[in-house]
Amino acid sequence: MRPERWKYSRTGRIIIVNSMADKNEHDQPLILFNDVWKYYNDGSAGIAALRSVDFVLRKGELVAVWGPSGSGKSTLCNLAGLIDEPCRGELLFNGVPVSELTDSQRSEKRNQTIGLVFQRFNLVPVLSALENVMLPLQIRGLPYSRAQARAASVLDEVGLGGMLDNRPDKLSGGQQQRVAIARALVNNPLLIVADEPTANLDTENAEKIISLMKKTGRSRNATFLFSTHDERLLSHVKRRVRLQDGSITQDETHRDQ
Ligand code: ADP
Repeated sequence: MRPERWKYSRTGRIIIVNSMADKNEHDQPLILFNDVWKYYNDGSAGIAALRSVDFVLRKGELVAVWGPSGSGKSTLCNLAGLIDEPCRGELLFNGVPVSELTDSQRSEKRNQTIGLVFQRFNLVPVLSALENVMLPLQIRGLPYSRAQARAASVLDEVGLGGMLDNRPDKLSGGQQQRVAIARALVNNPLLIVADEPTANLDTENAEKIISLMKKTGRSRNATFLFSTHDERLLSHVKRRVRLQDGSITQDETHRDQ
């Protein structure tokens, strides 16, 4: 289903979903931006990092947001990942208006349903790969042995089954990012948001990370939103959304890559 088949009101909150889409869960939007604006420095005199963004991310999609530095990619990722809120417009997460959530409800929703992957991997240096991936499960209160088994299985899925005991400094950049993806996946989130996950990797490893996201997306029906400034990676991605000066200037869906 194409976004243009959605009807949204620019001022209100009425979103009319066509009846065909209603019947297919995978056509439902996981994220919907409706005329979203984001300013920094608190006010209209500040920088508009996003300008009237309309964007629909459907369940099971993998979407690359691309554009030059400063175009608003991180800002869009932060809003989709419920790290930040719009200044104007409406953002729906799985049908829920984010503006109606308190800060703590937003954090809870983020912790329960979103996996985040960062440019600098953000692994805990004193913990092994296995322990890093176990962390989100332990925070949720899963017993140690179950957390261990589940983390080991996801690390196996990302190709690191033989490196469970390695600490981050004994892993390459590409391997560290695989651990970070395993950590993001381990709670079976609805959405994984990865802001420039390949920026610290060479092209070969960057391509491997994209193909891992595609593979895990297909096998688990996970939804991935990732940003990149590297146009070379786009040929591996079906849907590409281009940002320029805070506006979406292209939203293209290519044949399956
Ligand atoms: P990108 O990820 O594409 O590099 P960003 O979303 O980081 O773009 O930034 C978009 C614009 O917002 C840029 O002009 C940037 O300088 C500005 N910006 C981002 N974060 C902040 C912030 N915390 N305070 C002020 N300006 C910011």
